[in-house]
Amino acid sequence: MCLFCKIIHREIPSNTVKEDEAFFAFHDINPKAPVHVLVIPKTHYDSFNDIPAELMGKMGIFMQDVAKDLGIDQSGYRIISNIGEDGGQEVKHLHFHIVGGAKLHWGHFADADPKDFF
Ligand code: 5GP
Ligand code: ZN
Repeated sequence: MCLFCKIIHREIPSNTVKEDEAFFAFHDINPKAPVHVLVIPKTHYDSFNDIPAELMGKMGIFMQDVAKDLGIDQSGYRIISNIGEDGGQEVKHLHFHIVGGAKLHWGHFADADPKDFF
């Protein structure tokens, strides 16, 4: 069982934000912004590549509700999913980071210079 499946099953404790029959939201153990919450489906999918469209639609609604509950839906926030090797995904259970609570930085993402590709 993967790390996040263990969190869903309460084998590893977490600071829960919201839960329903299909999804689980909890605070990231190493927050990168004043608000940093992880949202996961209770069914294991390795990454965003694998989630069915219908479940993704429901997950979008769940994340909108999480943002409202956290009080950041009007001030703004960012949703991020790291996918695979180049995406920097560390935990191989699909998750979305919801980050906010302060003005977020926006910078270069890649080690490579984008200009080299044009
Ligand atoms: P990734 O790099 O895979 O997109 O993000 C994994 C995230 O999971 C990281 O932000 C990391 O801080 C978080 N994380 C890793 N282990 C745990 C844990 O045991 N509990 C919680 N709450 N977050 C974790
Ligand atoms: Zn899992």
